[in-house]
Amino acid sequence: MKVLVINCGSSSLKYQLIDSETEQVQAKGLCERIGIDGRLVYQPAGGEKETVEAAMPTHTEAIQMVLDILVNEKTGVLKSLDEVDAIGHRVLHGGHKLTKSVKIDDEALQIIDECCDLGPLHNPANLMGIRACMQLMPGKPNVAVFDTAFHQTMPAKAYMYGIPYEYYEKYHIRKYGFHGTSHSFVSKEAIKFLGLDPDNSKVIVAHLGNGSSVSAVQNSKCVDTSMGLTPLEGLIMGTRSGDLDPAVLEYIARKEGKDIFELLTMLNKKSGVYGMTKGLSSDFRDLGEAAANGNELAANAIDAFCYRVAKYIGSYVAAMNGVDAIAFTGGIGENGLEEREKIVSYLGYLGITLDEEANKQRGKNFVISTPDSKVTVAIIPTNEELMIARETVALV
Ligand code: AMP
Repeated sequence: MKVLVINCGSSSLKYQLIDSETEQVQAKGLCERIGIDGRLVYQPAGGEKETVEAAMPTHTEAIQMVLDILVNEKTGVLKSLDEVDAIGHRVLHGGHKLTKSVKIDDEALQIIDECCDLGPLHNPANLMGIRACMQLMPGKPNVAVFDTAFHQTMPAKAYMYGIPYEYYEKYHIRKYGFHGTSHSFVSKEAIKFLGLDPDNSKVIVAHLGNGSSVSAVQNSKCVDTSMGLTPLEGLIMGTRSGDLDPAVLEYIARKEGKDIFELLTMLNKKSGVYGMTKGLSSDFRDLGEAAANGNELAANAIDAFCYRVAKYIGSYVAAMNGVDAIAFTGGIGENGLEEREKIVSYLGYLGITLDEEANKQRGKNFVISTPDSKVTVAIIPTNEELMIARETVALV
């Protein structure tokens, strides 16, 4: 089967055409600046990357351009769109009703729409992508794969907040967790790669990128994760604060006359390592360079990030009463040698020792702990698109 995987943001979308038999990517790319001016990037497998500037007032025009270039006579990888068997969509929030991937029908559309409340930045864009595909390729099956789904196996003790129960009853306020497609893919891949037993294993996945989260996966099921009702909870991220005392909000609101929306924008977009370095950068490569050149704020931000990751890993060792393997993934997890080294330096009490030579690896499945380390530490590159394609095939 050929599956078109679509990941829509508010003004951008990423796409991949995946052959599910070989699991190879046939073409991939992105549309940027949707609703502003518009730019399409297209990369057929083994071919040249091309960029096309063209007006994309909405996601519908953007997806139409993707479909056109996929069947383009010169560089297209398809003879006709009939060859596309299904479309898999990344959707941020499935709330408490959509707890696994679904084939999209009117009811699923309505629930995804209801979840816009919980994922106001992403769900509306995800819906635009779904509706555009339904309009442009009528009759083709569309599948929604949720960032929240993998975490739905968490027990109540992990997902309940310590607030009055009425808010859970009335509004389903609880921890949902995100990056679930990545945590699912990476934990499965780690179990396979390291020869662990899927039904008797304890794995911690650290997905560290611009957005970052950690999850505890026991016997292939998620038992806890660091993000919450929204992706704001947990680790210090590129621009998100992660955990903090909620009273900080009231204090700043009172001192600076800010309302709750301004404060949440501050916590989502102006905080994290970006905010901690007075806006120097949210990119760990820039911060690493600045720290190496003596910038103390950058060094402190990297330290705080790594310390928080190590604390979450420690708490998940407690949650599972042990750990067999720790898997690093995401842009920083796969490439940030120094960040990995710093994080692992806190885990000596677990009998973990890092193989410094192995830790120089990046971007492929690789064990980075020494053979006598009591817990195996590995790099496991994530592949959310492949996971979405697999889920799509399973449902159609
Ligand atoms: P992601 O959101 O998973 O694409 O990750 C993006 C982040 O990965 C960037 O913001 C960088 O901070 C980080 N990153 C990419 N390459 C490196 C690297 N070589 N060293 C440290 N961080 C990196």
